[in-house]
Amino acid sequence: MADVAAGGKSGKVVIRNIGLMLSGDIDRPILDADTVVVVDGIITAVGREKDCDTAEPDSLIDACGTCLAPGLIDSHVHPVFGDWTPRQGQIGWIDSSMHGGVTTMISAGEVHLPGRPKDIVGLKALAITAQRAFDNFRPGGVKVLAGAPIIEKGMVESDFAELAAAGVTLLGEVGLGSVKAGYEAKEMVAWARKHGIQSTIHTGGPSIPGSGLIDKDVVLEADADVIGHINGGHTSLSEAHVCELCEKSSRAIEIVHNGNERVAIAAAQAALQLKCPHRVILGTDSPAGSGVQPLGMLRLIALLSSLGRIPVELVFCFATGNTARLRKLNCGLIEVGRDADFVFMDRAQHTAGRTLLESVALGDIPGVGMVMIDGLVRAGRSRNTPPAQEVPMVVGGH
Ligand SMILES: [Zn+2]
Repeated sequence: MADVAAGGKSGKVVIRNIGLMLSGDIDRPILDADTVVVVDGIITAVGREKDCDTAEPDSLIDACGTCLAPGLIDSHVHPVFGDWTPRQGQIGWIDSSMHGGVTTMISAGEVHLPGRPKDIVGLKALAITAQRAFDNFRPGGVKVLAGAPIIEKGMVESDFAELAAAGVTLLGEVGLGSVKAGYEAKEMVAWARKHGIQSTIHTGGPSIPGSGLIDKDVVLEADADVIGHINGGHTSLSEAHVCELCEKSSRAIEIVHNGNERVAIAAAQAALQLKCPHRVILGTDSPAGSGVQPLGMLRLIALLSSLGRIPVELVFCFATGNTARLRKLNCGLIEVGRDADFVFMDRAQHTAGRTLLESVALGDIPGVGMVMIDGLVRAGRSRNTPPAQEVPMVVGGH
């Protein structure tokens, strides 16, 4: 397959016969459309086939009536280098997640690097190296936004300016380093924001021995852009405190697979009740003590849809368009001008649900039939999900 990072181009791709199109847009989650046209990795048309320019494609894909959705964005991962994670001694975890529909991952810090530097020049060097390394190499084609430094005591504003000038756009989870007090975190988060660096804070109890508690008052005072794993990673604040965070903060509400599932549902429902569903974004927090979770995003979607009783098409927006907007990414939405990052899904074989949406509402995960990144097919029938009833087919092109 062509390598996007090496400059591969998709040419013109026509996808027809789409049975259900999930837009990723929380204000209009289902589109009345059956066709998407892509040119060189960018969506150029979305609509009914007769209204789209489908002539002379380089690649023609018959979706065979399956569902097309934006590729999932995992808002919270801990990559290290390439497709290797030392956390559980595994390789291939990013490619495996791509088989679970994930096309973009966002680093919440390269914290698992053995011997991770904690001095200021060292942590800056690591962040810049990680940003460059993942920009130059995409495991499985997945876009990994990495280079998320863990802030430490003693950093000054010029450190953030230097990181930003070097291409760093994210902070790793605030609270994983020596900066744990609200007033200290607040100052550094503000410096980061001033220089265009987005921040995430660890929320809840310690993740592993050596890390600490970040309570609701610290989260509110620090005012990071993303309330990272609001449902804990692993241990959650009380449900009352999580709901208080949803209410008192206006920042992104990030729910992860690697957290407390009961509080995950409570947080999502609180956001809906507060009429701010656009703030909810999803991640896995993998790799973690609970392992690598290639289907973590799909499982979280099924959890919130079934036990949380939130409409499936809205929950998909939590995992796609909401994250794209909050994190200013050009993927995550099916609309003209966006990156052609897609996951094709159908109801899993033998689910009790009659349609894809019904099957997920009943708690089953969908079958992934194809994954496309920048208009290039990265996987056919998933090796990880249950088999999809129908899968798309490449039927032609020149
Ligand atoms: Zn954390």
